[in-house]
Amino acid sequence: MNETAEEYSEQELLIDEPRSGLREWLLRTTLQDMVASHNHSRDFNGSRAEYIYLRVRLLSFVFALLAPLWIPIDLVLLSGASFKQMLVLRLTFSGLFLMLGLWTAQPHSLVLARLRVALFITIPGLFYIGSRIVLGGEVPDAGILMGYSFLPYLVVSLLALFPFTLLEGLAYAITIGLVVLGTELGFGTLFTVRAFGEVWLLGLLAGIAMWAELAQLHMLLQLYREATRDALTGLVNRAVLTKWLDLEVTRAREKQRPLSVLLLDLDLFKRINDTYGHLAGDLVLQVFARLMIREMPGINLIGRYGGEEFLAILPGKGEQQALELANRIRAACHKARVRGPDNQSIGFTVSIGVAMLEEQEDADALLLRVDKGLYRAKEAGRDLAVVA
Ligand code: GH3
Ligand code: MG
Ligand code: MG
Repeated sequence: MNETAEEYSEQELLIDEPRSGLREWLLRTTLQDMVASHNHSRDFNGSRAEYIYLRVRLLSFVFALLAPLWIPIDLVLLSGASFKQMLVLRLTFSGLFLMLGLWTAQPHSLVLARLRVALFITIPGLFYIGSRIVLGGEVPDAGILMGYSFLPYLVVSLLALFPFTLLEGLAYAITIGLVVLGTELGFGTLFTVRAFGEVWLLGLLAGIAMWAELAQLHMLLQLYREATRDALTGLVNRAVLTKWLDLEVTRAREKQRPLSVLLLDLDLFKRINDTYGHLAGDLVLQVFARLMIREMPGINLIGRYGGEEFLAILPGKGEQQALELANRIRAACHKARVRGPDNQSIGFTVSIGVAMLEEQEDADALLLRVDKGLYRAKEAGRDLAVVA
């Protein structure tokens, strides 16, 4: 082993997270993941957005149906003029929720999902303010109070059904809180025991709801990562890569920017398995995965395409930049040594196909072409990067 060699052992893989391996390191859900979504993958954001979208729609239909059911109770409780105003209010409320339920644009957009939730709390907020005005600012007595002022509590509680980050949960809870405080202030009842009780109860429910929201987000993220990542290396699996590539091809077209891919295949890997054992082979795969992440900073679209084959999607990178990255990875492989289970020092090399998306080409054609590049690298003696 020469002096510049970087040696990896099983222990080496554990540097970032002393108590777990590479896989756990890549899979773990961090506090940051719970606070905000900027570290979530685009794919996960899309899935979560759809989940929120479906729930908002379902709940909107339920609200749209339930609101008119209270009309007979209004009839009994309210005077003629108030009843008519409340009727208009209820029908508007119901209609708006019906529209929200029927709004099907871009289910995978997280921005729209957030907007949907914002509307989902705004509509009852307006109804709440409207009904307080109709009732003359005063909530008559305890029994009726239940019927007309429970809406903010209901909405805060229903937010528990959504997988929100801490920031999202806080934003929604604060919005509802402000609607209630603003209404009390508007009617000059802010500094009353009842308003204090209201806010206290609202805060309590918001806290419980946020706990549930975070628990859902955590579970969803964990399950998502389990389902989309390769168990050995922690990289995303082929299913995700295929989806990402389709998306990136579309984006490259839209934005008229280059898109390149690398198809990387470890050389004579069967021989590594045969010589050092399957465990050593596994270790090499893990080290190689780690090495790619390190050598391509800022590139998140790296995955295990199958066996000892990996795919890196490089949005915005032209042929030359892609080739440079490929050669950088090859050079890093030359320096890397994996310490095998029986203390052997194992070196490895990689052959890489490089291809830049051409006009009129789709994802499948690009993959076919990059595979040809890889094939040529193998034919030309391996440990090479070849542009297809
Ligand atoms: P080439 O340079 O032409 O790519 O030769 P190769 O030996 O790398 O290619 P080949 O396709 O003949 O063999 C790939 C080997 O990779 C066979 C398979 O046992 C091994 N392999 C695939 N997945 C894993 C894995 O998860 N762990 C281990 N240890 N080996 C694996
Ligand atoms: Mg191979
Ligand atoms: Mg192969």
